Amino acid sequence: MSRPNSYLDAKLDELVTANRILGNQRVCDSFGHVSIRHPDHEDRYFLSRSRAPDLIDRDDLIEFDLEGNPLEDLRGRAPYAERFIHGAVYMHRPDIHSVVHNHSMNVIPFGVTGTPIRPILHMCASMGCDVPIWDSRDRFGDTNLLVRTMDMGHDLAKALGDKRAALMRGHGCVVVGESLRLSVFSAVYLEVNAEIQIKAHQLGGDNITFLSEGEVQSIIETRTSFTVERAWEHWSTKANRPYAMEPQRSEF
Ligand code: MN
Repeated sequence: MSRPNSYLDAKLDELVTANRILGNQRVCDSFGHVSIRHPDHEDRYFLSRSRAPDLIDRDDLIEFDLEGNPLEDLRGRAPYAERFIHGAVYMHRPDIHSVVHNHSMNVIPFGVTGTPIRPILHMCASMGCDVPIWDSRDRFGDTNLLVRTMDMGHDLAKALGDKRAALMRGHGCVVVGESLRLSVFSAVYLEVNAEIQIKAHQLGGDNITFLSEGEVQSIIETRTSFTVERAWEHWSTKANRPYAMEPQRSEF
């Protein structure tokens, strides 16, 4: 039997699971969001309607073009005000297929103190050694800090550059991945790193041994998909979602 949309269906199910995991793993509270680039159309993405990630279902997912215009009937569903983060990152980063934006609590201090967040634990290497900080005030002055226009989205994406994460001063962060599972993995472990780093500063002041660039590189290069898969199985089960292997384009 021909099922031409089965891959896309599986990807959208995976996006629902990603939302539930981020809600369950202290990355998102009532706020924050995660998107995937459309697997068949690089100039589109999928993102939920404006709703807490913990509560999101298939019917909440909306298809957008990269400018943030919905490509389907909204049926009364309100899009996220900050959806422009996602389209702007996809425009600037053809290598990226998933974007997470969140306000996870322990990351915030590093955006406002001048103390850089740096990888401290081997599991956190996917954040990269250099996490830039975007300050909306630099170009846009006093705002409510939300990324509500493509202009702001482009400015944030430029600050992100070729990195894997960027902090947003007084607001949160953006974490990107070549895949959905990788962006979720990196977002969870960015928050873990932030919490551990704050404790390390309390204990040792600035006398902290961080991972070296070489170690970070080696961890990223030698990490197998099994690492991310193992976390995904655990987290999706904890979030009361059925575990499914990463969808593959193999059905003909
Ligand atoms: Mn936000």
